[in-house]
Amino acid sequence: MASLELREIRKSYGNVTVLDGVSLTMEAREFIAFLGPSGSGKSTLLRIIAGLETPDSGEVVLDGRRIDTLPPGQRDVAMVFQHYALYPHMSVRENMAFGLRNTGVSETEISARIDQAATALEIGDQLDKKPGQMSGGQRQRVAIGRAIVKNPALFLLDEPLSNLDAALRTRTRVELAQLRKRVDAAVIMVTHDQAEAMTLADKIVVMNDRRIQQIGSPMEVYGRPANAFVARFVGSPPMNLVPASLVVGQNALARVKLSDGAELATQVPRKGLPGAAALQIGMRPENVAVVAAGNGTTDAEVQLVERLGERTLVYALLDDGAEITAQDEGNSPVRIGDRIGLLIDGAAVHLFGPDGAAHHPERDA
Ligand code: ADP
Repeated sequence: MASLELREIRKSYGNVTVLDGVSLTMEAREFIAFLGPSGSGKSTLLRIIAGLETPDSGEVVLDGRRIDTLPPGQRDVAMVFQHYALYPHMSVRENMAFGLRNTGVSETEISARIDQAATALEIGDQLDKKPGQMSGGQRQRVAIGRAIVKNPALFLLDEPLSNLDAALRTRTRVELAQLRKRVDAAVIMVTHDQAEAMTLADKIVVMNDRRIQQIGSPMEVYGRPANAFVARFVGSPPMNLVPASLVVGQNALARVKLSDGAELATQVPRKGLPGAAALQIGMRPENVAVVAAGNGTTDAEVQLVERLGERTLVYALLDDGAEITAQDEGNSPVRIGDRIGLLIDGAAVHLFGPDGAAHHPERDA
């Protein structure tokens, strides 16, 4: 049975439409990430599910029961807020117990649940502290613990890692993934960080411009992005998009000409591509290798070299001014100002039509 269903959710603030007909089905125990830029309506959608915001129209159904008409406390969901929202005058134990009081759960049961969650989160020895005496990472665990003790059918996490510093964020991300295996519930996490979404979620819902752009597994949205927006938003550095035109011919697979005149054979079926219209060719940096000038698909001038240790990112300009990011080995000899060749793996490139819709290679390279 589907654990959560969103049906045609619409929401406007004044005359600004924030969600324009969002529909989604989530399987039981799935971990979904709402991923999108700031302002794309992710938090609004989460708050609608939690009952903190009312949609203008549409339905929210959890385990077969319509919940959008119920108050937040009766929805069987628990939310972890970005800023934790802990009560500063209460101890950790009281904070965790608060949401369970007046719900018919006995004090013995409340205590047992708190101890169990605190142990799992490794804050068992912190229960008598006040939130003000704890670090950001510990407060974040209390906020998660407070959600866990409610035993909800659905966890809602709003940017749970964004207040942590880089090192702690990576560690907490791993812990969240481990914790996730232990809780028997579905999870929705809002994030603008594609690495967080890629590493934690079973399924990513990419949002932009009031709508869902794509729903898929992390590797689906990375490997077969539905449109130019998803292609640029998922992956770091983003996919290169360079103007290209179709070379006239009879082949079943498209041959394209880059803006500087260089030609490239792709594995994208010609059928279904817009005819004479201007296209964009999309290629991940890892599919563009640095070679000697004259030996690649085209030549370019190096603008910037970013050494990341295990690999080097080379930002280069084609002769017509188009920018391409290529990937070289960690010990790349390339320097700013060098003239280099770029060898594009034609089997791995995608084409995008004037409407931004993606056309993928027949097989994944
Ligand atoms: P995200 O979580 O993707 O950053 P939000 O859901 O927070 O996006 O916001 C989406 C849009 O709705 C933004 O343009 C924001 O300014 C607007 N918005 C959110 N909440 C309100 C509100 N209570 N009143 C008016 N506008 C709001």
